[in-house]
Amino acid sequence: MITVLKNGATAEQRDKLIKWFEQQGLKVNVSVGEFQTVLGLVGDTTQIDDELVGSLEIVETIKRISEPYKRVNRKFHPDDSVIDVNGVKIGGGNFAIIAGPCSVESKEQIIEVARGVQAGGASMLRGGAFKPRTSPYDFQGMKAEGIELLEEAKADTGMPLVSEIMNANHLHLFENIDVVQIGARNMQNFELLKAVGKTDKTVLLKRGLANTLKELLMSAEYIMAEGNENVILCERGIRTFETYTRNTLDLSAVPALKELTHLPVVIDPSHATGIARMVEPMAMAAAAAGADGLMIEVHNNPAAALCDGKQSLTPEQFARVAEKVRRIREAMI
Ligand code: PEP
Ligand code: MN
Repeated sequence: MITVLKNGATAEQRDKLIKWFEQQGLKVNVSVGEFQTVLGLVGDTTQIDDELVGSLEIVETIKRISEPYKRVNRKFHPDDSVIDVNGVKIGGGNFAIIAGPCSVESKEQIIEVARGVQAGGASMLRGGAFKPRTSPYDFQGMKAEGIELLEEAKADTGMPLVSEIMNANHLHLFENIDVVQIGARNMQNFELLKAVGKTDKTVLLKRGLANTLKELLMSAEYIMAEGNENVILCERGIRTFETYTRNTLDLSAVPALKELTHLPVVIDPSHATGIARMVEPMAMAAAAAGADGLMIEVHNNPAAALCDGKQSLTPEQFARVAEKVRRIREAMI
């Protein structure tokens, strides 16, 4: 349920109404926009008398939100959310590129890639330390040691870090990781979602291999329902009957999610296509479609990568993609 306040409502009147809602056992999410203030009410609103609230002097309208996702809903928060990751903003017109290897493999590798992507236009460094692999015999990541190497790369470049978490018991290891990624395979790991929801860390939530946008939004709602509002959504390709590409990039997810939610939307063209030469056109298309950012896999020696080499760009290739994306964005203004 949302209550839209009239323009002339004073802070005192607003706070009084918020207090009253809270006394009714509801949680109130206040969204102060440029043109209107929206109070989002979460909890059992059945006992709220719509007519009574609607008749209050400061209330413009009162609406029940029929969608099961509330905090994520754009009706709850009409303006785009802008998420600040250690000084790097994303959303609401702020575009950010996250780049780095699929997995951290050595100190030399992560430092070289970090410097390369930073020079090429990335503002955040990604690197997997805990890797969800289809085969139990494949490289699973350097784990805690990988996190330490990422920290060294951050000390070297100053770039905020993005890394995937697979187990809530590992949260203590992610203290210096700025953005915890919930991968496609864990999009509906509800205990993990609740655990990261209890922290104030930014969460990059990837869409599951075979999940609808509504399911993605419900997973984001799990995180936000615990109090963490710093959520970035990521479309990374979905399973279809097509096998030429690794997955099928659902670019319409960008305008669709923009309608439904205020959260920033990032596109991962690397996992979506699985093919390095397709990253550039899809990255440009994502920017043109209105995405708030990109996540691109970059390796200093893709042919020798321990994971996802086929879809990884070299730092030089990445710099060209970032430049083309910059030009697309410039042309859109
Ligand atoms: C990744 O980003 O390294 C990854 C494993 O991606 P996804 O969860 O989208 O497969
Ligand atoms: Mn990968």
